[in-house]
Order: sequence, then C-alpha cells, then structure tokens
Amino acid sequence: MHTVSRPDTATILRNVPRIGETVPMFVGGRWELAASGATRAIVNPADNRTIAQVADGDAADAARAIAAARRAFDDGPWTALAASDRAMLLFRLADAIDAAREEFVHIDTLNNGKPLRESEYDVIDAANCFRYYAGLATKPHGQTFDVPAPSQTFTVREPIGVCGQIVPWNYPLLMAVWKLAPALAAGNVCVLKPAETTPLSALRLATLIEALEFPPGVVNIVPGAGQTAGHELAASALVDKVAFTGGTVTGRSVMHAAAGNLKKISLELGGKSPNIVFADADFETAIDYALFGIYANAGQVCSAGSRLILQKSLHDRFVDRLVERAQKIRVGDGFDPRTEMGPLISPIQRERVENYLAIGREEGATLRCGGERLGGALADGNFLSPAIFDRTTPTMRIVQEEIFGPVLVVQAFDDEADAIRLANDSPYGLAGAVFTQDVAKAHRVIRKLRAGITWINTYHPTYNEAPWGGYKQSGIGRELGTYGYDAYTEVKQINVNLDVAPSGWFSP
Ligand code: NDP
Repeated sequence: MHTVSRPDTATILRNVPRIGETVPMFVGGRWELAASGATRAIVNPADNRTIAQVADGDAADAARAIAAARRAFDDGPWTALAASDRAMLLFRLADAIDAAREEFVHIDTLNNGKPLRESEYDVIDAANCFRYYAGLATKPHGQTFDVPAPSQTFTVREPIGVCGQIVPWNYPLLMAVWKLAPALAAGNVCVLKPAETTPLSALRLATLIEALEFPPGVVNIVPGAGQTAGHELAASALVDKVAFTGGTVTGRSVMHAAAGNLKKISLELGGKSPNIVFADADFETAIDYALFGIYANAGQVCSAGSRLILQKSLHDRFVDRLVERAQKIRVGDGFDPRTEMGPLISPIQRERVENYLAIGREEGATLRCGGERLGGALADGNFLSPAIFDRTTPTMRIVQEEIFGPVLVVQAFDDEADAIRLANDSPYGLAGAVFTQDVAKAHRVIRKLRAGITWINTYHPTYNEAPWGGYKQSGIGRELGTYGYDAYTEVKQINVNLDVAPSGWFSP
C-alpha cells in the first residue's frame, strides 16, 4: 500500500491564529471567539479526522462584524484613502499570498481534499486576482455626456458600502478572493462568511490583511453556519450589498432575505452545463476535456461540463474511450502527488451524489462506470470513483438537476439544431462548450447557447480579466473582469451648470 507523506496538521496550520485551542474569527481588526462560545470541528475530507476547532459564528457575531464594517465605512479612514493607496495594499496582499503559497496550498488541500496541483492553481489565481483588481482600482471609471444644456455632465463610480459575502467550499481561498478583491478595490468594506466546512484559508488570509494594516473593520471574516451567520448578512438592513456563490436553492433564500432593504445582490449559482461534441472534433482533445470538464475538483464545480452532448455517429466509440480513461483516473488523498481526483467535501455531499446515482439507475439510465466508494487506505474518506451515465433521456432528474459530484451524463444528438435544443433544455445557463473543427459551426452553436461562460475546443479555463456568471437560474450579475468591479460600485451622475444665472422658471 502506498502511504502518503503529508506535512503534519500542526505544521500546515502553524500560522492560523488560536485563542486557546480555537481558531477565532476576525472582526473589527481583532481576533474573537463566537459570542456564544460555540466551536465547530473542521475535518479533512480525505479521512474525516478533525484538523481544527473553529469559532462557530452565528447571527449575533455576523451582526457584530456588520457593525464594525459599518463604522469602518461611515467613519473610518478607508473611504478617504486614495485609490492608489488601496491598490498598493492589494498589490502587497497579492505578494504576501505568493510568499505563503505553499502554506495556502497545503491548507486548502487539507481542508477541502483537492489534489495539490489544483490547490496550487487556485492559490496562484487568488494572488493574481488581487493584482488584477489592484490595477483596476486606479483606472478611469466614469463617463462624460454631451447634454442639451450648458452643463458639464459626467459620472463617477463610488463604493456601495458594506458588502456581505457568502462563499461555498469548493474553492475555499479563491471564492473568498473573487469576492474580496473587486469589493476592496472599489473602496467597499466586507464581511465574508466562508463555508462552514472550509474556513481555514480565509482566516489565514485575514492574518495577512492584519499584518498589512488594513484599517480595522474593512475586512471581517466570520466563520459559521449559513442559516444563522449567512442569513444575517443577507437580511441585515445595515448591509448594502450581498454577494453569494453556492447552490440555486440557497441563492433563492438569500434573495428573499435581501429584499427587506432591497440591497444590491449578486448571485453565482449552480449549473448543468452542456459540453457538445461533434463527430468532426479532434477526438483525443474532446475526450481529454470531457474528462477535465466533469472530474476536475471531483465535479464540485458550478461550471462543470456535467452533460456530454454527443453526435450519434460518434457516440459508441467516444463513450467506450471515455469509460476507459475515466477508470484510469487516480482517486486519492490530495497530498499524494499521484492523485488526480480527491474526495467529496463531506459524507453528506457524497450521500447526495449517491442518491443521484440511485435515481439515475431507477430512471433507467445505464451506469457505464464508477460511483463506487473506495476502500483500503481511503475507506475513511468521502471518495467516489468517476461515474458515467449513458442512455439518458432529457427529462431524467440526473439530466436536469445539478449533482455536484463526479457524475457525467451522456446525451446523444442527430444534427446541429438537435444539439442546441438539448443543450438549452435546462433551467440553468452557466456555462457550455462545443468541440468541432468547423469554425463557422462552432461560432453558430456558441451564439445559440443560453449560457454566460462558453468555450470552443476547450473546457474550464477561467480568467480574472473576463466576466463570470450565468443566464437563467444560474445567477444574477457577473464576477471578475471590469464587470465584477462595476458590480461593487454605485454610479453617480454629476451636473455642473456652466451658465450660472437664475433659471427664470418662477416669476421673480
Ligand atoms: P449552499 O449553497 O447551501 O452553501 C453555500 C454558502 O451559502 C455556504 O457558505 C453556506 O453556509 C451558505 N448558506 C447556506 N444557507 C444559507 C442561508 N439560508 N442564508 C445565507 N447563506 C447560506 O451549498 P451546500 O454546501 O449546502 O451544497 C448544496 C448544494 O448546492 C450542492 O450539492 C450543490 O449542488 C450546490 N452548490 C453549488 C455551488 C456552486 O458554486 N454552484 C457551490 C456549493 C454548493 P454553510 O456552509 O453553513 O452551509
């Protein structure tokens, strides 16, 4: 049996703060325990052993953090800081993440289970996201207008204020940074709630923010449950904007809660994204990206290519090869350098996925491979082998619903129109891809996809520079790029009268 050499937990978490035995939350520039004193055990999904006890924030803690953020925005030095000074802080934060890269990589692999190479990619991307938004902070953001009056009319962009930010567990550091970087660059203040299962890298990030002397209250990190701490961020009248990434059902409840004070809202939700492969595609490239599209991060990706839509003439050969390749994927502990796919985040998530495997069988789909728990040294973790369902029909639940695990469903099509119809037959519209060597066909099909993020002859690349978000029930708004920056600003119109004299509207 191959034993995995992993740095010990105490070494990996050496710079994560403690009060006694508990990892505290970061509120108003101070490290604090939950007001209730509650703690939550954080586990490694590769073996479900406890790696830390973390303060378990609730609504009262979120309210305390919101009050600290409010003070920082309304009375603190942050809003008076020049954009170039905010940019400098964010550049330094990016450098500090780079300097601690290996440590962040180990923390995310320990806490989330993902293979080291995936964590490394996330950490590099996180630093670059801060860099991208640091650069954007000082760029022009307004417009001037020629209006039919002697008026100099222009716009400026201003921060929205206190931003509540709620993130999931699939990219613990990166999702936090996607939220914090544009918000801070635009001059907002933040209360971020990591997922209850994966708070450790966000809390380590807070130590860098503290060391760089961001003003107190500008960034607050409150670990805790969504139903309590998360709900408070969505519902509080003192929060000006809520930004959420997670499941569509939860997104809907965040939207309800946010309606109380009509706060600004961004939602990045689920997907059931189509990956269309035509018979004229480069065969091995399409196979490779079909695998990467669904099994990266064990399928726990909002934009996963979870529906493979295959031209019928290619179907049998393609699925046979896909099954062969899927069965070779090395599933294991993320710290094992040979591992290509890690565990699911929790026993509950694995049960959710297994439930869908049972549903798929009952619905009459053919399970060609996978969906099995792993034994031996991996028996204590939440591992599941890569699964492929073939012979599906469009109304099956496994075809319509987000599974969020390593389960691919295959659909077959006759012609281009059929492919587009199948691809768009979904309540979701996050992502999609097409594989073909016919350039015109690729463009025609992509333009017909009702989805916010699309790829031709590739799957998954994500760029800080380009907008990210969904059509239909996959969300509201866009993150990343200039769109992501704009989403953290209000637009103010300013009119300057160039002919200063009484208007004469009322008699003198
Ligand atoms: P959720 O969408 O429930 O969790 C995402 C974040 O929202 C977490 O921080 C969570 O906190 C928080 N949250 C939960 N309930 C509320 C609430 N009422 N108000 C405010 N915040 C809340 O995802 P789950 O972890 O429960 O996963 C369930 C399903 O959601 C998955 O099977 C998957 O289908 C989908 N999902 C999709 C993601 C995506 O990016 N598309 C990401 C994660 C999940 P807490 O950690 O305490 O639950």
